[in-house]
Amino acid sequence: MKLSEFEFINYVASRIKSGKGVIKGIGDDTAVVEFCGKFGLLTCDSLVGGTHFLESWVSLVPELFFFLGRKLVSVCVSDIASMGGAPLFSLITLGAAPSVELEKFYEGVESALCEYGLFLVGGDTVKSENPFFDFFILGESEKFPMLRENAKAGELVGVTGSFGDAKAGLEQLLFGKVKDRYLINRFLDPRARLREGREALKLGVKCAIDVSDGLVFSLYAIAESSNVRIEISSELIPLSNNLVSFCGTREKALDFALYGGEDYELVATFPEELQEKMEELGFKVIGRVMEGNGVYLDGKLLKKSGYDHFRGKE
Ligand code: ADP
Ligand code: MG
Repeated sequence: MKLSEFEFINYVASRIKSGKGVIKGIGDDTAVVEFCGKFGLLTCDSLVGGTHFLESWVSLVPELFFFLGRKLVSVCVSDIASMGGAPLFSLITLGAAPSVELEKFYEGVESALCEYGLFLVGGDTVKSENPFFDFFILGESEKFPMLRENAKAGELVGVTGSFGDAKAGLEQLLFGKVKDRYLINRFLDPRARLREGREALKLGVKCAIDVSDGLVFSLYAIAESSNVRIEISSELIPLSNNLVSFCGTREKALDFALYGGEDYELVATFPEELQEKMEELGFKVIGRVMEGNGVYLDGKLLKKSGYDHFRGKE
């Protein structure tokens, strides 16, 4: 049987030896290493033409390359945010197809660098028929970072923002018609929840993940790595008004929220005594961590599904 992306990563992790100074290797949102008496965080992400975006979208969104520059930085910063860290330095690899509007792209990169307070210190440029961009970040954390394996039975599950908007944005771009620009912007210009991640870590939260491949997928990642069961309630899942009107029914919007990807919101688990402070930070409680396994919605087991880069949408 062909391996899924998840199984492939596990296979790589089982082959590669860990080394001195590595606190957490393959398997979480970032690697964690010993770094000048602190915790160093390393992560990379890419945007590939034909997989993450189509150049033809320029006709619908003339500032497409500006947004791609911003998005490249934001999705990578989002992994640092999920650990509770701060981004420091970055490198970029540019697969420069002639069609790439480089000036606009770098304006986007620069605006996001300023927003998150990190520096671009180098990279690589290669000729490529198909445009692609890769971004690497070195970040840091003074406290031990939040890991997906740290959820404990009895804790609450909280999330930032709302879910499903990005999928509704992507659908419009694929369909070739702009109906709701807010939703398109949620897909093209996600904001990494850096402040929320850092503040959650300061409060003592031990477990978090960002949502890149769908809410259910991220909840399964926590449930499986922490060996717990997660129960969520459909009426508590935050949906934007734009998404509900775009979808027509709350039921369809909920499906987008559960299985649509690229939201780049945070999911954290925390003890009840932190609920008020986490709510002040912007987290909304959607469920609870229990003993057992699996992810349940209103008492029913949800299928583990999300975007798989080897198999496409499962
Ligand atoms: P995210 O969606 O949070 O960016 P990924 O699913 O891309 O995370 O990666 C999960 C983990 O697997 C991370 O620790 C990442 O560094 C690691 N990883 C992903 N792809 C590879 C690969 N080809 N080789 C080694 N490690 C990988
Ligand atoms: Mg991630």
